[in-house]
Amino acid sequence: MNFNTSLLHAGEEQSEKYGSTLAPIYQNTAFRQNSAEDLENIFCNKAPGYCYTRVANPTITALENRINKIEGGLGTIATSSGMSAIFNAVTNIVESGEEIVSSSSLYGGTIDLFKDLEAFGIKTVYVENNNFEAYEAAINEKTRLIFCEMIGNPCLDVTDVDRLAQIAHEHGIPLVVDNTVATAYLFKAIDHGADVVVNSTSKYINGNSNSIGGVLTYSGKLKFDKEKYKGIAEFSKFGPFAYIAKLRNGLFRNSGACMSPNTAYMNLIGIETMGLRMERSCSNALELARYLESNYGDITVNYPGLESSKWYEVAKKELTGGFGAILTIRVGSKERAFKLINELKLAYKASNIGDTKTLVLHPASTISLHSTPKQQEDAGVFDDLIRVSVGIEDIDDLKADFDQAIEKINGII
Ligand SMILES: *Cc1c(COP(=O)(O)O)cnc(C)c1O
Repeated sequence: MNFNTSLLHAGEEQSEKYGSTLAPIYQNTAFRQNSAEDLENIFCNKAPGYCYTRVANPTITALENRINKIEGGLGTIATSSGMSAIFNAVTNIVESGEEIVSSSSLYGGTIDLFKDLEAFGIKTVYVENNNFEAYEAAINEKTRLIFCEMIGNPCLDVTDVDRLAQIAHEHGIPLVVDNTVATAYLFKAIDHGADVVVNSTSKYINGNSNSIGGVLTYSGKLKFDKEKYKGIAEFSKFGPFAYIAKLRNGLFRNSGACMSPNTAYMNLIGIETMGLRMERSCSNALELARYLESNYGDITVNYPGLESSKWYEVAKKELTGGFGAILTIRVGSKERAFKLINELKLAYKASNIGDTKTLVLHPASTISLHSTPKQQEDAGVFDDLIRVSVGIEDIDDLKADFDQAIEKINGII
């Protein structure tokens, strides 16, 4: 199946009783069984079936199966949010006294989460993205995983995942990739060596900003060393499924991280058009980036698809089908940034990305507010920077909107 077909049909269930063309929403808490024995067998993993939605639910399973096929994974778990997917993906591997090595150009929420993990004895060592000598230097006997974003939000640096996966595997540790910004449309992370892929479904998978959710997918390819990964070794009877089995029987269910069935349904509808939306959003973003770069000398445009981008060569090597749907611009001062944002008529002033509509944000005063100045700089966040999540509008309308707003900041310093 090719990509757009797989978004519609991969992993679909043929057995639905009435022939519903969409996965029915099982908006129920529990599933009754015919006997105490049946319930016991489901609880003991001896029989397939459902008992309680916090553990599993058919609507959620339908989404997990589709994403699993699209990502080319062995197992997928849907979670209550993208942050929850990252939390579960990471804490299923790392224990107290152990370390994460991560690229420093991360989403602000993830930096905050990794700070929170310090209270549980988990330390994160940050490294400049694509500086592979620095990665080698940061890895020690306590390191249990490498974490990165494929395309950093909002840094828009592009990771050489192939190279980073090679380093991780030479050290016998997994590479966890947050692929939210690139999506499987531009980048099949597992094909490039990622062991765990996480996505916030709140963005391009859902596509219409109607539900918060997340997913994590495990490749099934890494052999976790039994001494280093004692927690996963306890599930070794599940063979390559040990990572997923540990999560499903442990933190995922016990921390109550499940996605709601209604959200899974919204995401199943949303993902059907992800390829079309990404195609349009990426071509709009490239055209808008080129337009702003060539017409406005006092604005710096940062977009991995521009030849002026530091990340252009890596992006060309790693991505297929486009360079992403987000660009950032630096306009000279916070005053000019705020004025430009306020003057835009079509673009929503909103803190998310990945909508059908174009969205703008000043990261320094919002999503990166809790980061230190050094963390902000490493994450490519500056006081005069605006992030633009480009939607699927007609490009001429977007250009005109930016033209009229930029005109209004003339004369402002
Ligand atoms: C939005 C986002 C997240 C967090 O996802 P939520 O669904 O908001 O919890 C994580 N990583 C990246 C790159 C994101 O853009």
